[in-house]
Amino acid sequence: MSDDSQKEKLRQHFARRVTTQARVVLDLGQKLREHPEQFPAHAGELTSATDKLVRYARRFEMTRHTEAGEHLLALLKGNTGSAEDQLRALEDALEDLRLSTQRRTDEGASDAPQQYRRTPIYIALPNEELATRLIRQLEFFGFRASAFNTPAELIEACSLNKPETILIDVTFSGQDNGGIAAIEQLQVQHETPIPIIFVSEDDGTIETRLRASRCGGEEFFYPAVDPGQLIEKIETYTHSNTVEPYKVLVLDDSRAQAKYMETVLKKAGMTAHIITDPMQIINALEEFSPEIIILDMYMPGCTGMEIARVIRQQDRFHSVPIIYLSAEEDVSKQLHAMSLGGDDFLTKPIDPKHLIATLHNRGRRARSLLALMIRDSLTGLFNHTHTLHLLEQEIVRARQKDQPMCFAMIDIDYFKKVNDTFGHPIGDRILRSLSMFLKQRLRKTDHIGRYGGEEFAVILPNTRPGDARNVLNEIRGRFAELAQQAGDREFNVTFSCGIAAWQGDSAQALCERADRALYTSKEQGRNCITLASA
Ligand code: GH3
Ligand code: MG
Ligand code: MG
Repeated sequence: MSDDSQKEKLRQHFARRVTTQARVVLDLGQKLREHPEQFPAHAGELTSATDKLVRYARRFEMTRHTEAGEHLLALLKGNTGSAEDQLRALEDALEDLRLSTQRRTDEGASDAPQQYRRTPIYIALPNEELATRLIRQLEFFGFRASAFNTPAELIEACSLNKPETILIDVTFSGQDNGGIAAIEQLQVQHETPIPIIFVSEDDGTIETRLRASRCGGEEFFYPAVDPGQLIEKIETYTHSNTVEPYKVLVLDDSRAQAKYMETVLKKAGMTAHIITDPMQIINALEEFSPEIIILDMYMPGCTGMEIARVIRQQDRFHSVPIIYLSAEEDVSKQLHAMSLGGDDFLTKPIDPKHLIATLHNRGRRARSLLALMIRDSLTGLFNHTHTLHLLEQEIVRARQKDQPMCFAMIDIDYFKKVNDTFGHPIGDRILRSLSMFLKQRLRKTDHIGRYGGEEFAVILPNTRPGDARNVLNEIRGRFAELAQQAGDREFNVTFSCGIAAWQGDSAQALCERADRALYTSKEQGRNCITLASA
């Protein structure tokens, strides 16, 4: 690497450090603004955080941050008048700092496109302060969020750039159910509904809740909750429902019909795999791992029902929804087909809207059932068993494609002490925050599992060991800087990591090597990464 590019990389790395520290200062400022009575007691904390910011910013020549920080320091040290007066004087300096931080984040986003999700999250809350605070915290986790003040602005933004989810107050725009009305108006413009999280100041009548649910409301939050919980919710909807297209396998002996289905499915944003020969079914199941299967009823050589029975004989595909497609209109024959392992019956010619709606319903239900089986309920990550299953799959793939692959184990440092000091619920929150962090920072093709209590595992397909180490080391550094909250106390948590590169060995051997590397990291003082030697 040339000197210049090395320097640029370092600069980018430290730029992030400066912005992180700026956020610490801003968060403190925000908290004091909410509780001015605590100002005298916490002014020292704010001063030392700002001091650190100025030192970092000077060292890395970030002028705007330096100036905003120095201005703030001067005000803090000037220190006259009542707490309210002093805080008011700080407002402008904090605002300057906020602006420089935002600009920096935008630049950072183009530096590292993979780390920032492109699809935005929209927020429509009457409480602007809460909205601003949420946006800042969401940015921390790599989300891009925007707030809106009127239904018209929100609807327009959605038609320009469809968000992953919308968080909206039921009474948004100041009217009873104004938020719901805005969403109803907005959803008709979209073929697939946007998942909505409603928040409410009261528990809502059954009529309100039904109306909210009918227009895409996935959640109804009452009482209006704290930002931490909201972010967790937003996280669920941005990952499970909208990001991954459904994988649909279609078996139809008519090529024309199969092609037509493919077009309809692709238009609806689904991933389609088409076969016309029933004898290819086993192969297709293995290679494509469908989430939904559509079978033609009558084909030369066998029927859709017979195929369904064969599919159901395999444990892995026991709960994949099967939908029959046929010109058969005889209801008793349809019922008979369903009794043989089918879930739904659609008659040709199919109405594309009807087909897509059926697939969405079946797919969503199948995913939530599957999630119960393969995911850990606290973090939403893959559980131990499924992580190992994925590791074996990825080993097969790496061998076939002759690609490198890495496996990493992560263990939180001194986690017992965190539990003992701050309590189990805070411990749980840290586990969730690390899992969100990993999900946001890693590629979509990486698999993340909760391996045990405070242990996580990451499978990095098609990744060389040096790259795996760089990525995880970056995550380690940033996670360590994240200010964890427990009431009004703040603290930091670190983790240690061990990585093993696949060398043609078994999943078990690979796990053991990663585990030993992790142990080495612990021995060397924790908060570090070890790559198992070849
Ligand atoms: P080290 O740095 O050596 O890893 O120290 P440690 O304290 O992290 O390791 P140790 O294995 O001694 O303790 C792990 C702790 O993790 C003990 C257990 O109570 C806690 N833990 C495990 N699962 C959960 C969980 O689901 N929630 C919470 N809050 N704590 C958990
Ligand atoms: Mg442990
Ligand atoms: Mg530990």
